[in-house]
Amino acid sequence: MGLYILYAILIAIGLLFVFMIIRTLIARPKKIPSAVPQPEINESEIVNILSEAIKIPTVTKYKDGDDQSSFPVFHEFLKKTFPEIFSRAKVTVINKYSLVIVIEGKDKTLMPGCFLAHQDVVPATPEGWETDPFGGTIKDGYVYGRGSQDMKSQLVTALYGLEILLRDGKEPLRTVYYCFGHDEEATGKDGARNIVAYLKEQGIRFAFVIDEGGTILDGKLLGIKNKLCLIGTCEKGYSDFILTSVKDGGHASSPKKKSSVDAIADAIHDLRRSPMKTTWSEPLKLLFKTIAPYMNPLYKFLFVNRDILSPLMKFILSAVNPMTNSILRTTFAFTQIQGSDAPNVIPVKSTAIVNTRINIGETQQQVKEHIQKVVGKEISVETYGFGFDPTPVSKTVGSEIYDTLVKSIEEVFDGFIVAPYPFIAATDAKYYYAVSDNVYRFTPFEITVDDQKRLHALNERCEIKSLPKAVAFFRTFLEKTCY
Ligand SMILES: [Zn+2]
Repeated sequence: MGLYILYAILIAIGLLFVFMIIRTLIARPKKIPSAVPQPEINESEIVNILSEAIKIPTVTKYKDGDDQSSFPVFHEFLKKTFPEIFSRAKVTVINKYSLVIVIEGKDKTLMPGCFLAHQDVVPATPEGWETDPFGGTIKDGYVYGRGSQDMKSQLVTALYGLEILLRDGKEPLRTVYYCFGHDEEATGKDGARNIVAYLKEQGIRFAFVIDEGGTILDGKLLGIKNKLCLIGTCEKGYSDFILTSVKDGGHASSPKKKSSVDAIADAIHDLRRSPMKTTWSEPLKLLFKTIAPYMNPLYKFLFVNRDILSPLMKFILSAVNPMTNSILRTTFAFTQIQGSDAPNVIPVKSTAIVNTRINIGETQQQVKEHIQKVVGKEISVETYGFGFDPTPVSKTVGSEIYDTLVKSIEEVFDGFIVAPYPFIAATDAKYYYAVSDNVYRFTPFEITVDDQKRLHALNERCEIKSLPKAVAFFRTFLEKTCY
């Protein structure tokens, strides 16, 4: 009898394996269309525009009193640099420094389209830089400076795409909006949040919203020969929590068994051992479904059968690198710890702040409950500062705007595979779900791994040859959606 059961199990496993092989074989890659030759773009003009934009140090305000006098200068620079746009545009300044720029289309029945960018950049001091971080230096095929990647390059190329169409006498049918916040690097609560409040007040809804965020990756990491263009269709939530322990303090010469510092240390330890569970969010499933057919045979077998091999796949992906871990789960990062002010005083109160990035499908409240359960009642857990739940997920394949976005990318970037994915960081785009069902994040710049490391860091730079491509992408997308 026992032997029959064993045979039955072996046959079942064999059949399952055959099923998995067949599934792998029939998951065929789609033919990627070739890029379309693009009308010439004046490279030196766009390079100079980016260089000039970098020279205006629009640094994010982090606290009251931070200098924001550069923002009006930046507004004047845009006006002067894009005369075709600004001679037609209605410009509204929101909360002193954010901009809403509207270029009316001929067909008022069409919902407007919207391009986002943030004007602000993270701070930079000259130490460690090869060039002045606000010098806009052009050298060795790059434009150097703070904001050259994040994200003045996208801001100026998105505008330039329309500027050259207007220069050619092409007036849009669909109204075009450019919404430029001024504090994206500090959550966008002063800029983008107020822009969206203004748009809602005006009753405006967008056919689409395009922001930074998606990325172009080398497919090699995933056993794919082609480059990958990832479009962010949603983004994770964000919340900081403060953990507090209060116990008897006293002199450090006669410590009790457990102080508030010890309790906080235990809480951190417990939370590290009990992270939130890994889950396959819908956009993540769609990402793997889209790219699996292009993978090498082993990876393809694993990813096509991701559902059957789920525990193994989750284990591998969460262990293999921090990036793949963070697309699978809500992450915890302890960032600040506070105890006593003196080395020989045991504090009454100790605190730790944990920064959480909340996975699609979960909420700030669920994360708080998880933390509280793990650290126990002895520790108080409270929300700290500004937070938000994950965004909804924008439509993908089969939706007109998404398909047009894919087509525009394919026409400009030759042989690249385009796929939707859940974006793990935060952008201004999160606010715009209130005014559009089609919010996408895509950064049309091919950035090497070395250059990616310069983002928010030393020697940030943008490769000159990537600028005309980005312009071509915006021009193509504008022509397909707004003309
Ligand atoms: Zn940015």
